Amino acid sequence: MAHEVSFFDDVNRNFDQAAVLTKHPPGLLKQIKMCNGVYHISFPLKRDDGSIETIHAWRAEHSHHKLPVKGGIRYSVAVNEDEVKALAALMTYKCALVDVPFGGAKGGVKIDRRFYSQNEIERITRRYTYELTKKSFIGAGIDVPAPDYGTGPQEMAWMADTFAALSTGELDSLACVTGKPVSQGGVRGRMEATGRGVYFGIREACSHVEDMKALGLNSGLNDKRVIVQGLGNVGYYAAKFLRKGGAIITGIAEYDGAIYNPGGLDVGSVKSHQKETGSIMEFPGAKSIKDTSSLLEYECDILVPAALENQITRENAPRIKAKIIAEAANGPITSEGHSILKEHGRMIIPDTFLNAGGVTVSYFEWLKNLSHVRFGRMGKRFEESTNLGMLRAMEKMSGKSFSEEEIQFLVQGAGEEDLVNSGLEETMINAFQEIRGIKDKHNNEIDLRTAAFISAIDKVAQSYMELGIFP
Ligand code: NAD
Repeated sequence: MAHEVSFFDDVNRNFDQAAVLTKHPPGLLKQIKMCNGVYHISFPLKRDDGSIETIHAWRAEHSHHKLPVKGGIRYSVAVNEDEVKALAALMTYKCALVDVPFGGAKGGVKIDRRFYSQNEIERITRRYTYELTKKSFIGAGIDVPAPDYGTGPQEMAWMADTFAALSTGELDSLACVTGKPVSQGGVRGRMEATGRGVYFGIREACSHVEDMKALGLNSGLNDKRVIVQGLGNVGYYAAKFLRKGGAIITGIAEYDGAIYNPGGLDVGSVKSHQKETGSIMEFPGAKSIKDTSSLLEYECDILVPAALENQITRENAPRIKAKIIAEAANGPITSEGHSILKEHGRMIIPDTFLNAGGVTVSYFEWLKNLSHVRFGRMGKRFEESTNLGMLRAMEKMSGKSFSEEEIQFLVQGAGEEDLVNSGLEETMINAFQEIRGIKDKHNNEIDLRTAAFISAIDKVAQSYMELGIFP
């Protein structure tokens, strides 16, 4: 893919476009934009065959206007200093936009995990955590990592365990990282959270009749044709929830090829096929496409890039046919690609908003770890007995009785997952209303990305002002 400027420069271009529309002092805007600190570590890995390899890893803390700072850990060969700085900056703006009280951070280890054994990945993860701990780049009140591209609950469990071993007796040590397995202090719903948030965000964007009409589409998700790039954590759950919400998943692109079926793909079966065969290619009933990036240019209503940055550039943007491009990944559209898509009248739902579901539920997990109690534990039974009392009173007044199934459905109190999902839905809907409102205030002359940046810049600026740093 053609690459125009560096990823961090790209993020800063988007920042600048929004910043000129705010009234904050130039010095303050410069401070917000800067990356506060980057730590580059290299350490040796003894491979299973006895050879020694040097591993390079980074942690960038973009903004300390709120603590702790928060952001995922990525395992990819493309990791470098510029990438972690860009992703950390996006975290700052994302957290501010959805009112999650964290500064932005991001970490990465430069490896292709497919070429390392599980034991080697564990050694790398534990050593990386040790290095972060030594330099105070991790801790419940300092810097709280989470999963990102190439990492998941297993790596987070190793990180939490290593940190706990190094900080004996620290009561809140589990809150040093989020995205952990539920048995290791994780919260129910975190695994699906980013994809579920992507679904809530797209559903909300598609619910506005006039916005859809401008694109020549009906409102709602029903029968909208969707192409997804990347069937990992974010892409898989986003596709699954979009399908459940009435959309048709017509295409899926993976790193080694793509599949297409205009009649629709059963996402769960594609995932099982991928697990069994090691690839999504040759999925029964679908056309297999070797040139995976060409799928992005297929006819569809919504394109969901959910893999990596720089996927839609000035080179391929003119050929994108989707009316809506929903940025589930971080930075999948370059700023030049974005301008071209806009000229072609496309709607872009920006990453800072759309994939914020992950950090929102990470915030819930962090709160759970600090409070040392599962959400719903104290209130669920009480809520159920209150609901039952109300139903019985209604039966008495009406002289009619509810069936056993109706009672079971109406009485149930909210458990942890219900509360997490409802908090996520509320957050995504509010954030979309907010950026749509800002766009409206600017007479619809700005796009949703600029509106999201304006909201984020205003909130970070307010934090600095309240700290008295910029009177
Ligand atoms: P993941 O590692 O679980 O999945 C990524 C998938 O993309 C993999 O299946 C990989 O094979 C595929 N892929 C790689 N290159 C590709 C290519 N060129 N074409 C098609 N597919 C390709 O990663 P993830 O956690 O799903 O993250 C994906 C994106 O979402 C990243 O940009 C990440 O920063 C962003 N994100 C993730 C989270 C989270 O909670 N995991 C939260 C916010 C944002």
